[in-house]
Amino acid sequence: MRATQDPVAVEIRHRAESLPDLAALAAVLPGCTACPELVATRHCVVVGATPAGARLLLMGEAPGAQEDLTGQPFVGRSGQLLDRLLADVGIDRSAVAILNTVKCRPPANRPPTAVESRRCRGWTERQLDLIDPAVVVPLGLSATRWFLGPTTLSAARGRVHEVQGRRVLPTYHPSAALRWGPGGEPERLLRADLAEALRLAA
Ligand code: SF4
Repeated sequence: MRATQDPVAVEIRHRAESLPDLAALAAVLPGCTACPELVATRHCVVVGATPAGARLLLMGEAPGAQEDLTGQPFVGRSGQLLDRLLADVGIDRSAVAILNTVKCRPPANRPPTAVESRRCRGWTERQLDLIDPAVVVPLGLSATRWFLGPTTLSAARGRVHEVQGRRVLPTYHPSAALRWGPGGEPERLLRADLAEALRLAA
């Protein structure tokens, strides 16, 4: 089903586009009940980190367990590694916008369904428009496909894509770096891509 055929997705998009700023969006998002299975199991809606004037935006797929409990994006093991890699390349995390394509944790860390992803897209695209970052870094394949459509990470990574006037630089998700272990290729390339994103955003 396309977004235009899902009345809930259409309603969310219209609602999101009617909101004037990020504060209004953050006030409304926690009341969203569009995805019944996620609403039944979530502790909170993870709106994301949206510091004023952010030139760099990192995009993940969906909140994990720690994010669901705290309401903050990327605070579990992946978040801790991301913090270290950001610090390695001289990026101040507090100045970076961090979102997920889907704002509520899928149970048992399953991937978001197509319907959930489609419904949350209206919120996330409005956040992107309001933040208006110079560079976006999708973390992992799912977030990369959210921007580029069907692709593989090996095909998409390592170059800058123009998506609706935005520079998009896909890279690995920190969880891939954790799986490979310290010093593995995903960690090395993720660090290098973050450094390149910082250069592009300057
Ligand atoms: S995932 Fe997004 S669209 Fe679905 S209930 Fe949560 S905030 Fe709403």
